[in-house]
Amino acid sequence: MPRVFGSNELIEDVHRRGLCIGCGACVELCPYFKNYKGKTAQLFPCTLPQGRCFAYCPKAEVDLNEIYQYVWQTPYDGSALGPYRTILAARAGSEMAPAHYQGGGTASALMAFAMKSGRVKAAVLTRREGLTPVPEVVTDWTQVARLAGSKFMAAPTLAGLNAAVRQGQRDLGVVGTPCQMLAVAQMRMNPLGKPEHEVPVALTVGLFCNWSLDTRQLIDLLVQKVDIADISGMDIPPPPANTLVLETSRGPVEVSLNDIKPLIPHTCFICLDMTAELADVSVGMYEGRKGWNTLIVRSERGAQLVDDAVTAGFLATEAMSDEIVTHLSKAAVAKKERSLRMLIQRQLINTRNETDDGTNDGPRAALRMSPEVVDKILPPKR
Ligand SMILES: Cc1cc2nc3c(=O)[nH]c(=O)nc-3n(C[C@H](O)[C@H](O)[C@H](O)COP(=O)(O)OP(=O)(O)OC[C@H]3O[C@@H](n4cnc5c(N)ncnc54)[C@H](O)[C@@H]3O)c2cc1C
Ligand code: SF4
Ligand code: SF4
Repeated sequence: MPRVFGSNELIEDVHRRGLCIGCGACVELCPYFKNYKGKTAQLFPCTLPQGRCFAYCPKAEVDLNEIYQYVWQTPYDGSALGPYRTILAARAGSEMAPAHYQGGGTASALMAFAMKSGRVKAAVLTRREGLTPVPEVVTDWTQVARLAGSKFMAAPTLAGLNAAVRQGQRDLGVVGTPCQMLAVAQMRMNPLGKPEHEVPVALTVGLFCNWSLDTRQLIDLLVQKVDIADISGMDIPPPPANTLVLETSRGPVEVSLNDIKPLIPHTCFICLDMTAELADVSVGMYEGRKGWNTLIVRSERGAQLVDDAVTAGFLATEAMSDEIVTHLSKAAVAKKERSLRMLIQRQLINTRNETDDGTNDGPRAALRMSPEVVDKILPPKR
């Protein structure tokens, strides 16, 4: 069973260690946790020994074996891209109206089709208020594309999921980053085992992610360069560009990644997952092919959705080149290696904990996985 503690431990283990990514999984469960401009804070203390806030958090006592066993019926093996069936090139099909898609619009197309075909009744997405990313729950499939486009800041998207569940929404779809997909998997596991805590998620569309940005720090940086209200989109073109490009009415504004990278929350440096391994399907950019995405089809329901979306004209797919898959795998392995090194260095992985008799013999872990997989990702030097 997952190790579940309360909000005091969440503050101690996640907030005080600087590990909170602001995903929103602990927000909208009780009146105490709020997210403001990307930062999650607890307004009042709570003394409950166990809470969903801790249980859902993707940065506290995450047991990868338990989660992968639950989602994929197999333990976590540290493979580059996680479990999958196929990898395709994809873009939105002719049934999707043109929109401000980040790449090919695959994420929007799949979620829109999932709603149109009745698989999903409401989709938890992310829009911008100024520069600040906020959740929005959409119940009309024609509205999904309105929220297209990447907001490269850590977003409290899952506060929207919690609010939707509380309002009695069912058959929910969620689009989110790998840390958000991890939190959603923990939500679905119902770690406190209460029927009223059931989280009825019918589809997860994961996004590739190497890092995100701190919203407030990004605003502070950008107000010096551009009118924030005039930003209509943002892009990080593939290397060697080394820029964040802001779309404005006066044309593109480029900001060097050297200025941007100090704004990456440190918790991104302990994140192993680049391709949203716990999602039904995962979508990323297709380097070198504008207007297309890389699509990883993972679950059976994801595979059926992709097939049906192609038939219905919502999605177009092509075979993916082996070269791209190799490149993607190398990038994913590199993220695992550097994040695992950081987890070990910061003593956040597989640390000891309360013994059976209740005495504390060490700090709680951010992450747990089998020592064999640790050695597989970072082979010990002989
Ligand atoms: C923080 C971040 C980092 C990323 N890093 C990489 C990377 O390193 N390599 C790579 O290949 N791809 C990365 N992506 C994914 C990429 O930018 C596109 O989102 C993805 O390729 C899907 O493109 P699309 O055209 O299908 O998306 P669209 O159809 O335009 O839809 C985008 C969807 O993303 C959701 N969304 C936007 N911003 C956020 C957010 N901050 N949090 C949660 N959901 C959000 C929207 O609700 C929308 O549904 C990143 C995305 C984000 C948000
Ligand atoms: S659940 Fe998300 S928002 Fe809450 S403490 Fe954990 S990382 Fe932060
Ligand atoms: S790098 Fe990891 S922790 Fe950071 S935003 Fe992306 S998925 Fe979340």
